[in-house]
Amino acid sequence: MDKRFRTSTADGAVVEFGLVRHALLSRLEAGIIRREEICDAHPELLRAAKNLGRMTGDVCPVCDEVDLVEVTYVFGARLPAGGTCPTTRAELLKLERREEPVQCYAVEVCTGCNFHHLARKWVAGGRRARRTQTQKKANQ
Ligand SMILES: [Zn+2]
Repeated sequence: MDKRFRTSTADGAVVEFGLVRHALLSRLEAGIIRREEICDAHPELLRAAKNLGRMTGDVCPVCDEVDLVEVTYVFGARLPAGGTCPTTRAELLKLERREEPVQCYAVEVCTGCNFHHLARKWVAGGRRARRTQTQKKANQ
């Protein structure tokens, strides 16, 4: 399994949420927020993290015990309302090349203390993917 999905093929800019996470952790350290407030991953998310999560290579910044895993959710037309979780890079690329635009969210989860946080989001698919496919057909 890949360590992390690369998102360089994505059409739009990737929005990174590292600063949000940093702010969250600072507030936790300062005692402004309680650990339970940021360690409340939904059971569905935890299940996805256990079954499909990819190791990020980072230790959870909250409990400092368990490695964070990353789960990617993809939303778009003709996809399940709750989004779909690609399990391989190939699967993600296929979703990113759909004719319809898709919204992708990468969530970091700790299955030890239930810390979770949105790491990145990006959009893919849509017109550019269609054009690429048309070009491919023309070249065949
Ligand atoms: Zn943790």
